[in-house]
Amino acid sequence: MLTRSRWHFEHHLVPKISITSCIFDTFHGMSFILTDCYFHFTVNLLDSRSVMGDLGWVSYPKNGWEEIGEVDEDYAPIHTYQVCRVMEQNQNNWLHTNWILTEGAQRVYIELKFTLRDCNSLPGGVGTCKETFNMYYYETDGDRALKESQYIKIDTIAADESFTELDLGDRVMKLNTEVRDLGPLTRKGFYLAFQDLGACIALVSVRVFYKRCPLLVKSLAEFADTIPGSEASQLVEVVGRCVNNSLPLYEPPRMHCSSEGEWLVPIGKCVCKPGFEEILGSCQGCKVGFYRSLLDSLLCSKCPPHSVARHTGATLCSCEEGYYKIDSDPPNMACTRPPSAPRNAISNVNETSVFLEWSVPMESGGRKDIRYNVLCQQVLPGGRGLEECGPNVRFLPRQAGLSNTSVMVADLQSHTNYSFLLEAVNGVSEFAKDRTKQYVSLNVTTNQAAPSPVSVVRKGHAGKSSITLSWAEPDRPNGIILEYEIKYFEKEQDSSYTIIKSRETEMAVESLKPSSVYIFQVRARTSAGYGAFSRRFEFQTSPYCDRVRQLQCLFFPRRCGYSKAKQDPDEEKMHFHNGHIKFPGVRTYIDPLTYEDPNQAVHEFAQEIDVSFISIERIIGAGEFGEVCSGPLRLPGKREMQVAIKTLKAGYTEHQRRDFLWEASIMGQFNHPNIIHLEGVVTKSKPVMIITEYMENGSLDTFLKKNDGQFTVIQLVGMLRGIASGMRYLADMGYVHRDLAARNILVNSNLVCKVSDFGLSRVLEDDPEAAYTTRGGKIPIRWTAPEAIAYRKFTSASDVWSYGIVMWEVMSYGERPYWEMSNQDVIKAVEESYRLPGPMDCPEALYHLMMDCWQRERSNRPKFDEIVCLLDKLIRNPCSLKNLVNSSHRVSNLLVEHASVDADCNIWSRTVGEWLDSIKMGRYTELFMEGGYSSLDTVTQMTSEDLRRVGVNLAGHQKKIITSIQEMRHHFLVNGTIVYF
Ligand code: AMP
Repeated sequence: MLTRSRWHFEHHLVPKISITSCIFDTFHGMSFILTDCYFHFTVNLLDSRSVMGDLGWVSYPKNGWEEIGEVDEDYAPIHTYQVCRVMEQNQNNWLHTNWILTEGAQRVYIELKFTLRDCNSLPGGVGTCKETFNMYYYETDGDRALKESQYIKIDTIAADESFTELDLGDRVMKLNTEVRDLGPLTRKGFYLAFQDLGACIALVSVRVFYKRCPLLVKSLAEFADTIPGSEASQLVEVVGRCVNNSLPLYEPPRMHCSSEGEWLVPIGKCVCKPGFEEILGSCQGCKVGFYRSLLDSLLCSKCPPHSVARHTGATLCSCEEGYYKIDSDPPNMACTRPPSAPRNAISNVNETSVFLEWSVPMESGGRKDIRYNVLCQQVLPGGRGLEECGPNVRFLPRQAGLSNTSVMVADLQSHTNYSFLLEAVNGVSEFAKDRTKQYVSLNVTTNQAAPSPVSVVRKGHAGKSSITLSWAEPDRPNGIILEYEIKYFEKEQDSSYTIIKSRETEMAVESLKPSSVYIFQVRARTSAGYGAFSRRFEFQTSPYCDRVRQLQCLFFPRRCGYSKAKQDPDEEKMHFHNGHIKFPGVRTYIDPLTYEDPNQAVHEFAQEIDVSFISIERIIGAGEFGEVCSGPLRLPGKREMQVAIKTLKAGYTEHQRRDFLWEASIMGQFNHPNIIHLEGVVTKSKPVMIITEYMENGSLDTFLKKNDGQFTVIQLVGMLRGIASGMRYLADMGYVHRDLAARNILVNSNLVCKVSDFGLSRVLEDDPEAAYTTRGGKIPIRWTAPEAIAYRKFTSASDVWSYGIVMWEVMSYGERPYWEMSNQDVIKAVEESYRLPGPMDCPEALYHLMMDCWQRERSNRPKFDEIVCLLDKLIRNPCSLKNLVNSSHRVSNLLVEHASVDADCNIWSRTVGEWLDSIKMGRYTELFMEGGYSSLDTVTQMTSEDLRRVGVNLAGHQKKIITSIQEMRHHFLVNGTIVYF
């Protein structure tokens, strides 16, 4: 506690400097310490009584003021000037002082001591007697003679007390003291003058002084000796200087010097700097073991626990060995240690989540900022060590900086050993040399869990009958995803749904109705089973074939009798009915390369057939890996069927075996009437075989050459339609063939064309047509789109280009594209926009389509589904095929000779279609056509197995169709003609 009291001293003596007031500080109530004194300075500029010799003042006139030399009781001279010419008229007596230097003072005080005679006490001379005198001054910068008229009056001085004769008699002199102040003074000095106009005065002393604020040390701040301002009310601000190891606290200390020479209004103060404390008004260094760090704590403090100050004047204490502090710790806080390890750690496993819990460490290290970190390590199988858990593992609430003593670790792998390190840390852990003392480890084995649901299913391309879906792997697969299940149904028809499977996170769902909304749900399967289905996603198919409408306008002029109004409803109906049944479960093609083990891929997609079920009867061709044979396949419980058997010749390398079976891995993923069908593989015995359906007519190019000019345009278009349909399926599966050519199409006895040769379609090693390009790849130049030749841009659009060439091959009965031109010339010619001319007798509509397939800009080429759509229209309107490209003047042999187009534009499909319509099975017309059952006489050969293969799966429908076929057969036997009822 600091209290202050102010004491005033009155001094009898008037020394040059006088102390008028002092301040005493009462410190802690213990003792009085004189810290500051308010020295009330007055400085005399003139004191007539202290002048030992002659004062030298000048009086005028000579008989006016006169000096009377006297001495006081101490024999000190008293300079008294007196005048007393009260009896005479017109007195004007002046007394001039010497030049008085101001010493810089702007305000001075003049103290006069004098006696004055009471006029009333004078006998008879009252008429002229005065009882006052005047005081004047004049400022100059130098000492020079002055005239009275130049003086400026300060005041008229009257006596408080005048004396009488009687007083003189008593020897009592009544001394008056008058003080006047003078200012502001601006010159170096001034003169004073006293004017008497007829009084009786004795001027005993004249003192001229000024006041100043003396040098002052207060609160460790020194304020310089200061002269007050000129105005009486003025305060002169003075900034103090901190002394003796002290510093300003918050702001520099200030004081104010008043005109009275007093220091007033102290602001701010100085305090001892850190490491020092104020003792008896000075700053002294802290003792050993003590410190002072802050300005506002006044005294040195003892070092906090586990810290020391080995020298005096310490601003901080340093930590003992093994103890630490961080910057944010307050100086008075003890030094601290890292905590010990968490205790009693336990784990609780729930499938692939682990709940870890522990108790606070035994030793907190003296801090409150204790936190916990979790390190997750997966134990690698076979003692191969530990691996830090990946970013997919989740920690709830977080992995590091936990304030509670528990954490949930989720999304771990199932059936996996983990080691968790629980670490207790505090603010000083980072300084610890050995952090292992802060850990505790915990070993945990997770259980199996099904994958979490697929969160989002996205729509890719939406065709009129297909929608491509894609989705991301579930957030928590909890194992290796073996496959996905896609469940879908038409909106508001959820009583029946379809489930298809995919190994990829993408799939084209086929055979949907145009302009219809479908609901899709996806779920993942791991070895632990299925996860939950995703939520429902609604996507819509696009409206029916817009592009076909454009092409229609081109190829179906009004004169052909084409009527849009009549055609469209039928069209839509057919697609509508067939859409769903046609290819149930179309999946996305999976590149066998994605399997590490090629054997696994084969067995994923191909059925292993016991060699005892196969008989090899004939050799029908030679493949790259060995002979191609044919013979019957007798699977138990199934009808015997002819199959083609591709063999892998003896002495193969593992590499060749893999390449050979590659084809089966691809083919096995397809299920379409226009794609060669894989029955299975023989890998468990030798020779290794690939078993496919048998195609009686072999490859299309040789078949056409052999039967040059033998088919109707409708039959040729039917073949092309089949190839396009197979290619549409492949494109929808995301499979790019890269080697589509007539030589790679197989033809069965019903003239059904099927796409084959998937073997090494990526490298084309086996294709004799494939030539090396400048970029080193082997490419069948004549069949390949320019962008695929130039920069290997193989897409379904480049397959469309090849399809155009196949069309050309078909329409020219197996002619070699670009005849004997060299590959280089072909590339150049195509580059220069040359295109194959229309084959002889080729319908204009087909040539237009070919040319469309050969658009340089691949996005301008038609899509396979558009090609199928257009070919269907052409087939159903054979008159649209009447216009031929290169023989407008020439009558088409084909059309004349085979006459089917002209005679009955629609006989081919209409007959089968009409028969099916008549038994209300019209919805299967397209499937019959695709299956090669395009005439009623082929239909009469059909069995239930054939019906199933075509795609008639419902038992009731099969029965109805078979009954009708039997009736037709019966009628044929009886009447020799086919009729239907
Ligand atoms: P590839 O090496 O697979 O193209 O077969 C060589 C030849 O065997 C072909 O050109 C066909 O003549 C014949 N061939 C292949 N597969 C079959 C099949 N499924 N049916 C009939 N012939 C086939």
